[in-house]
Amino acid sequence: MRTRRFAHQTLSRGGVALIDLHTHTTCSDGTDTPRGLINAALSHGINVIALTDHDSIAGWPEAISALRGDIELVPGAEISCLTDSGISVHMLGLLFDGTNTDLLTMLEQTRDDRIPRMVKMIELLNNAGIHVSMQDIEEVMPHGATMGRPHLADALVKRGVIASRDEAFKSLLNNESEFYVAHIAPTPEAAIARIRAAGGVAVIAHPCASRRGETLQSDAFASLVAAGLSGIEVDHRDQNGDERAMLRTIALELDLAMTGSSDYHGSGKLNTLGECTTSPEQWEKLESMANARRVMRARDK
Ligand code: AMP
Ligand code: ZN
Ligand code: FE
Ligand code: FE
Repeated sequence: MRTRRFAHQTLSRGGVALIDLHTHTTCSDGTDTPRGLINAALSHGINVIALTDHDSIAGWPEAISALRGDIELVPGAEISCLTDSGISVHMLGLLFDGTNTDLLTMLEQTRDDRIPRMVKMIELLNNAGIHVSMQDIEEVMPHGATMGRPHLADALVKRGVIASRDEAFKSLLNNESEFYVAHIAPTPEAAIARIRAAGGVAVIAHPCASRRGETLQSDAFASLVAAGLSGIEVDHRDQNGDERAMLRTIALELDLAMTGSSDYHGSGKLNTLGECTTSPEQWEKLESMANARRVMRARDK
């Protein structure tokens, strides 16, 4: 394959580069608008920021319009996946063609099914005497956002049932909870194939984040690589030192790029922008695997 040197051209110009490849906005369960995210990234001195809302690219146009200075925007999405054995996996798709209808249809199917899934979760909570309604969700959820458990958590906070999103995820809304309902999602291999077919790169997000439920075994990575996986998110606050070391070993063995990122959600999570970052070398490796140059800068608008 021809080696491209997209990232290198811009990053080598000025000293240290802060590269954060995983963030959320009000288009999913983050609390900053896409414009607010770009402003926050600028004030944190971030050089390269990926916008990766859950199952949505709705934030791309506003984020692009907010660009100024030299900051580079990596268009992306975090795709909710389910393995055949029911393990939840998050796949970051970066640098794909945002007009690819196969990929957009896959995201839309997931977003659509999140609505009946929410209705079912609300029903289970109601049956247990916990009062919350779809109207409560609509009141707390920004218009057009990908509907998710964090919005249910916000509705429960507003009703005084629970103190915070974090508390909700430790109890009522945990993957192991009796109130948890899954939604339709592609397998990780199917998501990777769609991302690659749309010219982008696939990075598995926080593969060892066990607080959220069962995680992949290390032997599962071979099948992801066969499907076209490009990278592993190694440095993430939900993975400890041993887990990161294990992921680094897998990445080296399989010749995958290693990323680090914040998974920033505004005030929806404790994660701060740039708390984990990706090295310029690893970013260059990753970007060279996309089929076109899709990073956006103010001067490209
Ligand atoms: P869902 O996609 O609707 O199943 O909701 C899962 C999402 O909730 C994850 O992608 C996280 O972004 C978010 N989440 C998980 N744990 C927490 C937490 N402790 N606090 C806030 N948000 C969380
Ligand atoms: Zn989230
Ligand atoms: Fe995630
Ligand atoms: Fe995330």
